[in-house]
Formats: sequence, C-alpha cells, structure tokens
Amino acid sequence: MPDLRFKPQAAQKTEIPRPKRAEGQWALGYTEPLNKNEQSKKDDDPLNVRDRILHTYSRRGFDSIDPADLRGRFRWMGLYTQRAPGFDGGKTAQLGEEELDDRFFMMRVRTDGAILDGPALRALGEVSTAYARNTADITDRNNIQYHWVEIESVPAIWERLESVGLTTLEACGDSPRPFLGSPVAGIAKDEIIDGTAALDEIKRRILGNPEYSNLPRKFKTALTGHPSHDVAPEVNDVSFVGTVHPEHGPGFDLWVGGGLSTNPMLAHKLGVWIPLDEVADAWEGVAGIFRDYGYRRLRSKARLKFLLADWGKDKFREVLENEYLHRRLVDNPSPASPVAQGDHIGIHEQKDGRFYVGAAPVVGRIDGTTLTGLADLVEAYGARGARLTAYQKLVVIGVAAEDTAAFADDLEKIGLTARPSNWRRSTMACTGIEFCKLAIVDTKERARRLVAELEKRFPDLDTDISVNVNGCPNACARTQVADIGLKGQLVMDDSGRQVEGFQVHLGGALGLNPSMGRKLRAHKVTSAGLDDYVTAVVSAYLEDRTDGERFAAWVAR
Ligand code: SF4
Repeated sequence: MPDLRFKPQAAQKTEIPRPKRAEGQWALGYTEPLNKNEQSKKDDDPLNVRDRILHTYSRRGFDSIDPADLRGRFRWMGLYTQRAPGFDGGKTAQLGEEELDDRFFMMRVRTDGAILDGPALRALGEVSTAYARNTADITDRNNIQYHWVEIESVPAIWERLESVGLTTLEACGDSPRPFLGSPVAGIAKDEIIDGTAALDEIKRRILGNPEYSNLPRKFKTALTGHPSHDVAPEVNDVSFVGTVHPEHGPGFDLWVGGGLSTNPMLAHKLGVWIPLDEVADAWEGVAGIFRDYGYRRLRSKARLKFLLADWGKDKFREVLENEYLHRRLVDNPSPASPVAQGDHIGIHEQKDGRFYVGAAPVVGRIDGTTLTGLADLVEAYGARGARLTAYQKLVVIGVAAEDTAAFADDLEKIGLTARPSNWRRSTMACTGIEFCKLAIVDTKERARRLVAELEKRFPDLDTDISVNVNGCPNACARTQVADIGLKGQLVMDDSGRQVEGFQVHLGGALGLNPSMGRKLRAHKVTSAGLDDYVTAVVSAYLEDRTDGERFAAWVAR
C-alpha cells in the first residue's frame, strides 16, 4: 500500500494549530488509527478486497468471508449485507450488526450522471432478473440498487456490468461515492455549461485510485451546469454549480461542506469561479483537504461539514489555494441562483431539436423487467438512452419530435409515467426496514401507499409538495430538505404501545431559498396515521395559503 499520509507542500502553509485533543487529522501528525474503522483501513486498503471476492469468497461461499471484509471493506465494492427478515425496528438498536446480517447482499451500481444506452439498460435488467430476484431501485444518488445478491454471483455480475462500462467500485465506503450529474447535461436548451467532460475526468483520475480510497468518511460529489441546480448541490460535500462569470464566462461556482444526517448543514459557497478544465484539479484539492485534515476520531464527526464548521469558508479557501492548488482562484462575485424545479419530469425539447422525457416510477422502485423494457423502448425509438436523477426518477434522452406522445404512452405500459401526479412526482423514500440494517421503520411500501392515498384525496393538487420518507435519522432520502420530511422512529400509539412512526420536519427546501425543515416536537405520527396526518397538514396549507405561496414559505410564516 502506498504511503498516503500528508506530505507537507513547499508552498506557503496556513498556520493550523495542533488541537489539544487528537481528532485523527493526518496533516497534523495524528496518523495512528483512533477507531476500528480507521484501523481496518490501515490494515489493508479496502480496494484489495476485490481480488478476494473474485478468487476466494465467491468460490468458497458466505461463511469463508473475513468479518473485517464483510462488514467493512465490502462497501468499497458497493456491497452491504442486507437486513435479515423478521427483526422489527426495535431490534435495530438492541442487536449488533452481526445478528441483523442476512446472507444476501445489497449491491449498488454507480452511473455518475452517464447516459445508460440500450445495452447498458439491458445489462442492468438482466443482472436484476438473473441474480437479484428482479429487484432494482433508483436511488437519489444516480445508482441502481439491487437486493438478494449472493456472493457466488458477484464475479458474473461484475463481468456483465463491466461489459457495458458500469461498475460498483466505491459505490459505498469511506470513498468518493457516486457522483450526481445533471440528467440533461449537454442536451438542455437552457444549459449554462455542459459539465460532462469534467465529471468524466474526475472519474478517470480517482476511481480505484488508492490516493482517495481511505477518506475519513463518505465523500459526495455533485456537478451541474443546468440553471435549475438539479443535483441537490446544497447537501453534497463538494458541488460544482454552473454560473456565468462577468469577465470569464461560463464555469462553475464551488460549494463545499453540505450534508444531512443527524447534524444537517447546507454547503458553503467558497466565492470562487472554476473553469471546466480545472474542475478535476479543484475536486482533488477539496478531497485532499478532507483526506488530510478531516476528523478521524469519531465517525459521527468525520464528514467534511464539521471541518467547514470549525474552519469557516475563508480558511478553507486559503488552504485549498496555498497547499493544494498552488494558485489563487478567480473570485466569483455573482453566485448563481436556481430557476424552477430541477426534476425534468415531462416532455421537453433539447437543443438539437430532439426531446427528452422525464418519467417517474413510484419512490424509485422499479425492477429488472422494467429496465429491460426500457432498453427495448430506447432501441425501438432510436433514443440515446436514459440518465437517473437526484430525485429517484429517470430521463430518456434523444426521442424524435414526432414520437414523443407514443413514447410516453409506451412508458406507461412498463410502469413509468411522464405525466405523474404531483404526489408521485415529489415523493421519495429510502431503502428502509425491508433491507437496511440501520432502519427503524418501513419506508418504500409505506410511501407507495401514501402516494396512492394522497392521489385519491388530492387528485387536483395544483402545486408540488415534496414528501421524503426516511427509515432512520441518517436521512438518505434527505429528510430535512423536503416540504414534509419524515424521519423513522418508534412512537407511542393511542394505547401506549411503541409502534413504527415518524418525527416530522416541515418546510425544508433546496433551490432558491434553501432551508432545513422545522422539526416540530409535537409532530410525531404513527406509520398507520401518516395518511391522515399529511392530509391535515396539506388541507391547512391549501386553505390558508396566499396567492402563489409555496408550502415552505407558508410553514415559515
Ligand atoms: Fe437505511 Fe436510515 Fe439510510 Fe433509510 S435513512 S436507507 S433506514 S440508513
């Protein structure tokens, strides 16, 4: 394993006092592991587990897997053991991970904002039907997520995915997680700048590169050149957001340190403009700061946002310029403001005269049959392919003008719709108790029933109200930035029994006025009472709103 410890640069250094208490910051000399995760990463580069999966574990079976690989390094290959059936939410805190482990895996395939053409969609579909019991979820990080994968199948799955340019590498773990890219990059008429080349370059430099395989924790990247800011840049560790500099023209605003979970923080705008061909350098600089200065003592403090909170954005920029990029960055006096909603649902003309069609499954849940059906449609209509969105939806690109209506009709036949209700369009759900070992409550199925019920109760809703359903405080489906954010927990029902339920956060938003939803202590609802709770809140809003007043603004009054 190469020595990845911080090497002082010759250039001017920012004075950073050594804290009294070791936080495990490599750059300050704290290189001894301070917890078992850090020890495991030091013992062996997690990237090395790929060979053991291919040549040992897949041949000898589940029981041959070293526990340190099973519950640690496997994540760098996009693999987690899934939750064994039969354990309710109360068991999540009581039992150890070992007791909740199933012998099957969840597997994430990263797409990083790329277009999935017919062969790629077909491969994704075939893997699902052949090896994953026909499961496939579109996540809010541009992934396809399978379940029920057996260790013996992994080599064949990788071979099939790699044959169409797809990978599960570093889809989880303390690594550069899958990138969020604009679903309409290079095709939207109103695009500021196409960031595709920059995302490709970052991926080429860092994926599988041991310089970035041991970060303090996960590291999330988003990049968009679309004015709707369609990749949730406020809640990623590093984001590049299309903007036009008054002198230098189109480029990217650099934002750092966003993240949700139990200490949610919105990203800081560093006030710098990055040209397209310097995005990958800037990415490496930000990731390098995180690797070298990030906190490695407590896992709960190991995200970049905590370093930003302590340093502030000016110091962060100074370290980035002085120690990593060795040059001054261009000031950006006019950070971009987003326009409209960025989910791209519906039928829209591209700059080349063809059309893109944004379609919604229900809460991201599709299956292998749907993916294969989509591959058939893409090929039959001569479309370029599909991209996944940051909202658990997909966008088909390159449909001929005269085919759009027929194409949308054919999408309906495979369970996707370009004309969803506002509820279907604006509801997301994380994996939840069905498969996730950290979950306390069911999410996907509960959210599906909620959407169906709200479509009946509010069939003509004339505004979008986002509902994000999460199975625990980790906020994988972005609890705090939804109009109605739901955090799974156990709550008391009327008879005093502990049952599945949610803590409610109201009035969160991304975009023009980003804000964290208000956590209203009194607003705890049982899972069984969720339909009625949402109905009551939405009815109050519809009765009370002023002209054009959005839900979040109404909550903030
Ligand atoms: Fe699992 Fe919690 Fe994330 Fe949902 S929010 S996927 S329950 S860790």
